Amino acid sequence: MEADKPEPFLGYMIVGTDGRITDLGAGAPPPAPPGADSFDAGGRVVMPGFLSGHSHLQSSVARGLNAGRELDGHIDFRAAFLDARFLQQGDLYAFTLHGALDYLRHGITTAYNYPNRRGPARYYNEMFQAEIAAGQRFVYGYNVPDLPYEKAREEFLAFKAMTDTQRDNPLFLRLTLAKNGHLGRVIGHGQFPTEVRIAREFGLAVQLHFLESSFYQKQNRHDFQYMKDSGALDVPLMYAHFIHASDDILADSVKAGAAAIWNPLSNGRLASGLTDVPKYLKAGLTVGMGLDGQNTADIANPFENMRMGLYTVRMQYERASVLGPLDMLRLHTIGTARAIGVADRVGSLKVGKYADFLVVDTTDPDTGPVYDLYGTLVFACSFTNIARIYVGGDLVAEDGRLLHHDSRAIGTDVRARMDRIKAASAAVLSSMAR
Ligand SMILES: [Zn+2]
Repeated sequence: MEADKPEPFLGYMIVGTDGRITDLGAGAPPPAPPGADSFDAGGRVVMPGFLSGHSHLQSSVARGLNAGRELDGHIDFRAAFLDARFLQQGDLYAFTLHGALDYLRHGITTAYNYPNRRGPARYYNEMFQAEIAAGQRFVYGYNVPDLPYEKAREEFLAFKAMTDTQRDNPLFLRLTLAKNGHLGRVIGHGQFPTEVRIAREFGLAVQLHFLESSFYQKQNRHDFQYMKDSGALDVPLMYAHFIHASDDILADSVKAGAAAIWNPLSNGRLASGLTDVPKYLKAGLTVGMGLDGQNTADIANPFENMRMGLYTVRMQYERASVLGPLDMLRLHTIGTARAIGVADRVGSLKVGKYADFLVVDTTDPDTGPVYDLYGTLVFACSFTNIARIYVGGDLVAEDGRLLHHDSRAIGTDVRARMDRIKAASAAVLSSMAR
């Protein structure tokens, strides 16, 4: 899948004890050192694990809800449903673990987690701990609390001190900020200067929801000037969605080195709009892909996400050459790694990078003869074709089963917690329905 080596080849890969790739090539492997484990992929496909550049992992407990709602109604409903006052210790840990493991078993080996702020800091911090426990690689987006600068900075420092204890953990790739609230909506609008100030001081990138629903298109385009005035374009920016960009916003964003995360499943589910990715790529924008939260992309299936994105763009352009299967595979792997700033360690299979990879079996379920491997992978495969998932050379899932976690026990725990929250929030929700 590398730009200079686009042809699939029959070969080998060697992984060191530190989980990084030490050798990779075509043909027969060199003799294995004594005691080394080996696995013969036997005609199956080895490819990099997928990345999601924008995710709300704790939302995996709220799937199938809000079937008739767009972004705005969706957020209001979810906010009431998972209101901080209904949360107890351990809830956000359990929900995030549930979401991260769901991602992992669908072949997503790295996720950017955008954990919406809920409850006091001790609850909030649980989401970081759950990421460590999940065994998935992650970038954490710290949600700066909506407080005056000094207080917000103090809370950030306490959180950073906790993450510093995990600095050498290879799963924790990077700390960034995730903008509080949604631009255009009431919350989070006036907070930008504080967030930008903290980002500048600590050299952090910022991810924000921007130009998502068409409802806020006009307001959001107007917000761009406010963002500029706040100095936001001087820090590395990652836009989640970026559907309704004007030519001027696109040009300024390319100039500023910003990146965009494309979430086709979520954008379709919430009727948010079509993203003109070919135009963005042509303009030189860095584009990655995301599965968003499982409450808006209910199955965290990167194959479905690639198809949804590819097909909508082809429908829009009425031209098949506008984007192809290899483009989609790259966008969901190395493209996303670049967009979230971790391409030095993950996103492709290269000597020195982590051995995060999938073994895909195109014969189970059987997809017939292979003529064009990338065509088969993107058009004909699904996560059910993933036979094995490795993170840092460690086998974490086989035939759809996670090997290091008790998925059933985690599911039971999450259901019990949600039963309690559903009962507590019933009155609020019924008043919303009226
Ligand atoms: Zn989002």
